[in-house]
Amino acid sequence: MTYKDRTFCEIIEHVEDISERINVVYDIRPGILIVFNQYREVGGASVSMYKTPDMYIELTIPHNYTLGRKNKVTIIVILVHEYCHYLKSLEMGSYERVASVQRYQKDQLIRRADEQRNWNATKKMAKKLGLWNKLFYSIARECYYTSALQF
Ligand SMILES: [Zn+2]
Repeated sequence: MTYKDRTFCEIIEHVEDISERINVVYDIRPGILIVFNQYREVGGASVSMYKTPDMYIELTIPHNYTLGRKNKVTIIVILVHEYCHYLKSLEMGSYERVASVQRYQKDQLIRRADEQRNWNATKKMAKKLGLWNKLFYSIARECYYTSALQF
């Protein structure tokens, strides 16, 4: 195995480790797609679909990413945040889910309110899992729509 293969494996194991902790607590098991790409930042999305089993969480990770402490926590922040979006989508019926995605995409104010709510949910979930700390908070604050988030 090359150094790069090993790093990919470590990242995948880290994601599996954290997602397993969340799955057990919330009794869910979303599909998780990890995409290694050319971008410079870690990104994530909860892909909301009409049918619940079609929904999944996607993480995009730079191909040259390394797992130092800060990067490890960055992945945790994004993952917990996307799980919160996923849980919120689970609560909705199919039609409501599709309509809410359309509103989110069209309306900047709705998007901001959704995201601010979701960051509060992210903080709650992180606390519940024992993952909330200063580093988690400071990384979260670098993300969009976190100006209202407090430690
Ligand atoms: Zn979000």
